[in-house]
Amino acid sequence: MGAVLRGSGVSPGAGYGPVYLLAGAIPEPPAGQRHDGDAVAEKKRATAALARVADDLEARGERAGGTARDVLSAQAMMARDPGLEVGVAELVDTGTAGPRAVFEAFGRYRELLAAVGGYLAERVADLDDIRDRTIAVLTGLPMPGVPEHAAEPYVLVARDLAPADTAVLNRDLVAAFVTEEGGPTSHTAILARAMGVPAVVGCAGATGLVAGDRVLVDGAAGTVTVEPARERVDAVLGAAAARQAALTATTGPGATADGFAVPLLANIGGPRDLAAALAHGAEGVGLYRTEFLFLDRAEAPSEVEQEAAYRAVFEAFPGGRVVVRTLDAGADKPLAFLPPPGEEPNPALGERGLRMFRRYPDMMASQLGALARAVTGTTALPYVMAPMVATVEEAAWFAEACHQAGLATAGIMIEVPSAALRARDLAAAVDFFSIGTNDLTQYTLAADRQVSAVAELQDPWHPAVLDLIALAAEGAAAAGKPCGVCGEAAADPVLACVLTGLGVTSLSMGAPALPWVRAALARHTVEQCRAAAVAARGATTATQAKDAARGALPGLAELGL
Ligand code: PEP
Ligand code: MG
Repeated sequence: MGAVLRGSGVSPGAGYGPVYLLAGAIPEPPAGQRHDGDAVAEKKRATAALARVADDLEARGERAGGTARDVLSAQAMMARDPGLEVGVAELVDTGTAGPRAVFEAFGRYRELLAAVGGYLAERVADLDDIRDRTIAVLTGLPMPGVPEHAAEPYVLVARDLAPADTAVLNRDLVAAFVTEEGGPTSHTAILARAMGVPAVVGCAGATGLVAGDRVLVDGAAGTVTVEPARERVDAVLGAAAARQAALTATTGPGATADGFAVPLLANIGGPRDLAAALAHGAEGVGLYRTEFLFLDRAEAPSEVEQEAAYRAVFEAFPGGRVVVRTLDAGADKPLAFLPPPGEEPNPALGERGLRMFRRYPDMMASQLGALARAVTGTTALPYVMAPMVATVEEAAWFAEACHQAGLATAGIMIEVPSAALRARDLAAAVDFFSIGTNDLTQYTLAADRQVSAVAELQDPWHPAVLDLIALAAEGAAAAGKPCGVCGEAAADPVLACVLTGLGVTSLSMGAPALPWVRAALARHTVEQCRAAAVAARGATTATQAKDAARGALPGLAELGL
């Protein structure tokens, strides 16, 4: 057996095939490259090249559809950014040739994005891709891209994959993705999961692999084995196939092995995510992140536009629960038309979520009104909840506003430790809870979600987070109210069993995680889930909590978890 490279497994399953190395980056145009003196013509050429790249990205998105269409149209918007065009024009005016001007203007944006960190820093790969495509158009080089034909499925290896590369891939020709860079929220990871392609990202040494060498990619373990022995290939592929069979064999509503119902719901960002939610058997929507409708806008969407987007979701789940979260603006999701009062040195602790509505009550009234109209005539069960609630006064204020708007079921997200600690008081003021473990972890461990240097602390397995979840679930149960989880923790099949054992009454997650969570629950009784929860809370570290829970959940082995 050859070398084993390691990275993060971000899309489960196994793939085996020859390495296809994605063409290297387009060479940097030489520094000091000058145009022939006709700045007007050079600017036209550069503008036309940017427009052609944007058109091409949009066309690829249309051909691919689904998640890829959204990703590519966002990338096309970057290519159409007037700021970039102005930056290029200014450089051309000083005599710089078009390709070099594009390179330098993009370089400035690149630095800005990289400096922000987090999600935006991961968009740097998208920006580099647009830059390379534009330079390719200007210099007559072939566009970077993936093969459209191959004799057998290949393992696509790259420094990072741009959405434009992955969107038009023929799924049958790709055995797996491996990238040298990228993290769990990179586009490679998101699209790989959406396409069901096994993937390993952040894999040091990947671009040093030799084209044509055969590699075995384990997207769960995060390993890439070079020229593995045939028996190992058979074992890993066989185990992956068995896991897949076990997954697809478990169908129907979420329940433990002894029939304790745990409804499994989908997290969505808008109507475009409905198809995947339905395809993976979601019993409803557990988190509709409505802010996606508001982001990247100069003005708020009209009530008519909002109503249409909400209605599409209500109509997709006749008789089913649809939990809509009101606008969660601020912090990592700033909105141009809802500016905070002034400088916020710690935006995550500033005016975000429901706090923003206290400053802009008309915005809340307009969203609640649109929701109330959208549900009329549908049979969906609308649950409306507010993010970032810290006090009982806020909870009561929001519930009252919902009831006045004609929305009978009003709840809150439990994301702030104060809300979990005093869950009994808050439960009396609202109709349901949904725990946002992403923010609850951030605030419990005082580790900003946006700061990768403290990413290790962002672990929902930490017993302190588990204790707060237990308190929230107990508070809700004492008042006879439901308490779901809609943070990423619910998508971890092992943690999902623990959450059930802690008393959580429903689980909501990105659609691809649904079969895994369904299968993990179906293999354990509610007593086993409770024992796993007790074991996890008895631990002192996140790692020990996870190990202790796994020890109490014997059915995980069958799923290779
Ligand atoms: C959460 O905080 O867990 C959550 C679901 O909300 P978001 O990730 O959108 O902040
Ligand atoms: Mg949140």
